Formats: sequence, structure tokens, C-alpha cells
Amino acid sequence: MSWGPLIFGHADPQVIEAVRETALSGTSFGTPHRYEVELAELVISMVPSIEKVRFVSSGTEATMSAVRLARGFTGRDKIIKLDGCYHGHADFLLVAAGSGLATFGTPDSAGVTEGNAKDTLVVPYNDLEALSAVLEKESTSIAALILEPVPCNYGLILPSEGYLKGVRELCDRYGVLLIFDEVISGFRLAKGGAQEYFEVTPDLTTLGKILGGGLPVGAYGGRKDIMAKIAPEGPVYQAGTLSGNPLAMAAGIATMKKLNNQNFYTDLSAKGRSLRDKLVPVIKKFNGAVQFRDIESIFCLYFTADTDLSTVDQVRKCDMKMFGTFHSAMLKRGIYLSPSGYEVGFLSSAHTESEIDRTVAAIAESLEEILS
Ligand SMILES: *Cc1c(COP(=O)(O)O)cnc(C)c1O
Repeated sequence: MSWGPLIFGHADPQVIEAVRETALSGTSFGTPHRYEVELAELVISMVPSIEKVRFVSSGTEATMSAVRLARGFTGRDKIIKLDGCYHGHADFLLVAAGSGLATFGTPDSAGVTEGNAKDTLVVPYNDLEALSAVLEKESTSIAALILEPVPCNYGLILPSEGYLKGVRELCDRYGVLLIFDEVISGFRLAKGGAQEYFEVTPDLTTLGKILGGGLPVGAYGGRKDIMAKIAPEGPVYQAGTLSGNPLAMAAGIATMKKLNNQNFYTDLSAKGRSLRDKLVPVIKKFNGAVQFRDIESIFCLYFTADTDLSTVDQVRKCDMKMFGTFHSAMLKRGIYLSPSGYEVGFLSSAHTESEIDRTVAAIAESLEEILS
């Protein structure tokens, strides 16, 4: 599933045709063109909080630019990110720090300087008290809080009841911009992403993955008054030679049009439910050694007896070596899961009941082989 973008499965004929057709009139113009405008209008019509949008070429560029914009808009330097959330590989976002209460970030990757890490404060997900404490202390220097509304890069962690609304309220109280990184959840949980699904409105949103239909596209957008700060209208610089590339825009337009078909999300949702209904009884047979989490068309299996799994620390304790063994057992049976226990799985509209049945059967056999 290419880590999320392929919501219609591999090589969708309509997306491929749109790319082929568009390529005949050129692969880059270096100037705005009608496909860019058309995709922007589609995005604005679909994602509730987006009034204005700027295209870039990857999710990494989208989050990096959104944070710069938030800093330029507020005149503040620091940001808050949540432990375990992934936002691409910009230096100041490659910081996960330790668990527990917010501490000053420490570099997560070689090559990230202390200087870069020190403006990123890290708070645990699903913990409003910890967030409140950091805001209380530091709010006047914090430009934005960025999070994956549903973290999908540390297994799948679901927001506890009222958590996202609580985050929104705290950001409002302290004048901190709220950025939803919807690079995975956008166009996946619902047509309007997690913000539609949970009815929480961020100030800025980052998009990627599904938006490009399998071509390199990212985007950031949101409130008009904030977006007006981007050059040339405002003082926050951001540009990209190949941003809004016609092939990528054409793939995005074809994708958005298909997503707008009536019943697309109810059908996809039904597939997710079917996988769950068939898989849960299978997993029960292993006496709590394996856990399953899902939301709509996203799912994850964990090798742990912990049934809570609402924090990154709990996911950290899962048996990832066992996941590796499980992955090989599945591959032997023709099912290629994401090759890490920290990654989620995705269903696409191309998956039918027969693939779901085959997957459930392969999971049953693989668990039997490795756990007994
Ligand atoms: C994949 C991902 C990114 C980075 O996108 P790239 O296109 O790989 O740069 C950012 N945020 C989230 C939530 C992602 O899942």
C-alpha cells in the first residue's frame, strides 16, 4: 500500500490515465497552471478547516513549511510535538525525546544538532495534564503544537475520548496554533480527514500521501489570515521548483474525484469492519498474546498482553522481534505487511472480501505457527 497513499490499490487505471494524458502536454511549467487551481479547489471543498492551500512535493516539506509559517505568524520560536508522532524528516521534527513529562528534546537522529532540538518540546500523546503543564510554563514562547490526530507511525494509537477537543481548547487558551498533520489520516478516515471524523478544527493542516494518488505531493493549508503570511503575499518564504507539478496535480485531481463518489467511504469503512469482524475471533484464540487495533481502513497487530495501548510507552514494550517472525510467516503465505511492528496496515478500495478472507486465514495460520 506504499505506506498509505494507494487508497485505490496499485496502479489505479483512472489515476494512471490522468498522468499519461497530462504528460503529453509537458511535465513541468514552473508557473501556476489550471490543474494546480483545480486540485486546490477540491482540497478546500473537502477538508473543513482549509480556506487556502499551498502545494509542495512531500509530507516532509508540508510539515516543515507549516511550522515555519506558524513561527512567522506568531513571532514565537518553540513548538510542541507529541512523543511517537512522525512528521517527516525535518531536523526540528526528528525529535521524539523520552517519555514522561515534557522535557527539552534530545536529537533522535544522528546529524540533528542540539540547537535544532532545543526549540522542540515533547509531550506524551493522550495526556492533557502534561500538555497543560507545559503550556502553563512556556506558552508565550510556543508558536504551535503539531500532532498526528491519530498517531499511525508508532503502531496505531487511538485518541482517548475528548482528547483532541481538549487539545484544541488548550491551544486556544494559550494562543498556540494547532497543526493537524493529516499526511496519513487526510482523505483516509473520512473525506475531510480526522478533523471531519472527530469534529475538531485545526488552524493549519498538512497533507500528503493520498493527496498525490501515488505521485509526490504534499500540501499545507488552513486559516486565510495565517496563509496570507506566505510569500509573496507575506514575509514567510517557501517555494519549490517542481511544486504543483502537473503530473502530480493530475494524479491528485483524479484521486479526489474518485473519493467524492457517493458511498466511497461507507464502502471502505465496511471493508475495515469486515476485517475486524473476521480477525477478532481468530486473535481471541491466542489468549491475549496478540492485540488488534483499527480505525476505518487502518489497522495494526501488536504482540503484547497489554490491552490498553493508548500510549507510546505501551507500544514500546510490544515484542517487535515476534512481529518480525510473524512478518516472515505472512510473507511465506503471500501477504506482504509493512515490515515493522511500528507501522500500520491499510485497506484499499481494491481489496475485496476474498483478499480479506485470505489475509485472515494467513494470519490465523501464521499465529498458529509462531505462537504454538
Ligand atoms: C509519511 C508522513 C510524513 C512525511 O511524508 P513524506 O512524504 O514521507 O515526506 C509526515 N507526517 C506523517 C503523519 C506521515 O505519515
